[in-house]
Amino acid sequence: MDLPEELIDKICAENPNAMRADQGVILEEDGMAFHIVGVHDPEDYEAVGKQGSWFLPFCSRTEVIRLLKPQTNEDALLKLRAEAMVDSPRLVRVFRKRRRGKANWSLTNYYESFGANDRYLSHLSKSNQKRLKQIPAGYAYLEQANAMCIRTNWGNVIAVSELLQYYFYFMNLFYFGGQLGIKEQDCFHAFLIALRVMGGFESHDFDLDPRGFLDWNAECYLKSRGAMQYDFVLGHEYAHHVLGHLADSKITHVRLNKYTQTKYTGYNHNHKKEYDADHYAIKFITGNNEYKSELVNEAFQVLLYFHLSKLVEESIAPQIHQGTHPSPLSRIKKLRKKIHKRYGRTMTELNDEIRHFEGFVKHFLKDWLPYNMDKFEIYGSFYLPSYKRDFLIDRIDF
Ligand SMILES: [Zn+2]
Repeated sequence: MDLPEELIDKICAENPNAMRADQGVILEEDGMAFHIVGVHDPEDYEAVGKQGSWFLPFCSRTEVIRLLKPQTNEDALLKLRAEAMVDSPRLVRVFRKRRRGKANWSLTNYYESFGANDRYLSHLSKSNQKRLKQIPAGYAYLEQANAMCIRTNWGNVIAVSELLQYYFYFMNLFYFGGQLGIKEQDCFHAFLIALRVMGGFESHDFDLDPRGFLDWNAECYLKSRGAMQYDFVLGHEYAHHVLGHLADSKITHVRLNKYTQTKYTGYNHNHKKEYDADHYAIKFITGNNEYKSELVNEAFQVLLYFHLSKLVEESIAPQIHQGTHPSPLSRIKKLRKKIHKRYGRTMTELNDEIRHFEGFVKHFLKDWLPYNMDKFEIYGSFYLPSYKRDFLIDRIDF
């Protein structure tokens, strides 16, 4: 739990080198600084032990007990979510903030409270709904902006990186910002932030240190598009499960981040399986043609974003070997061919957009990136220039 106010006051009164921080207190001694963010409830500590105590800042006591000895696939997703952040002090601070003031907090409830999977599931056939509700799925703070299906002793679980949510948000801002009346320089910075999220340069603290506040309408528009894009990603992972792809795919070991020792079992799918998962994510939708058409368009949007990011990535670090995933552009083309033309944009419309944005990226790679490479790859935070009012000091203000 957080440091009690009285304790912070006491530490500050007794130590001239103590400084109040947004979370707890910073103590300076012999040229070193210690940031004390919280204390353990002795009963919790007793119940979970030293090893379990690392999870207490962001899990309930019962959750820690469950994740130390998982017995169901729900426990396995909980463990994955917890292990994805336990060794990252910044992410622990993010979750302390998310938890602040909330009684009866649990990590699972936090993630489930958004009901992120409900809309997609509600548009499936009854039998697919039944089957997929057994598969725990949702966001986790994975270090890479992607989604994965993990095999556990109790069945498969699906995790979608929270970073993908931020990536979509900033790509949407870059792409649609002009229509929302947002200035060109802010859209450009959104593009930089999205690329930096994908490249692993942007620090993982968006809710501690917001990159800028847009007005309500713009915020709602960008988030609702992002939610549809999540639906497609979720549908894609569900499709791998329903189509039985996991049974005979090449097994690969997945690390959640640079700290975690635990190896999770993930999969490398072949190209056909990836195309099929894109197709079935849409094909599963029954009855609601409007939703289906919107989902197809957002699938194109997601793949187009991946294509643009890939152009930048390849120019920074050219790939010697062909990756195991088919290119986003070929996924767009396959998907367009497989889905009835009454759903989503035509290939001609898509080609126009692709050409337009590829032109933008080429210009970026030629005229901006070579002169700003150091700045672009530095670890930290980029902001939206017109929307960032106050610059905050890490740890003291957030
Ligand atoms: Zn896939």
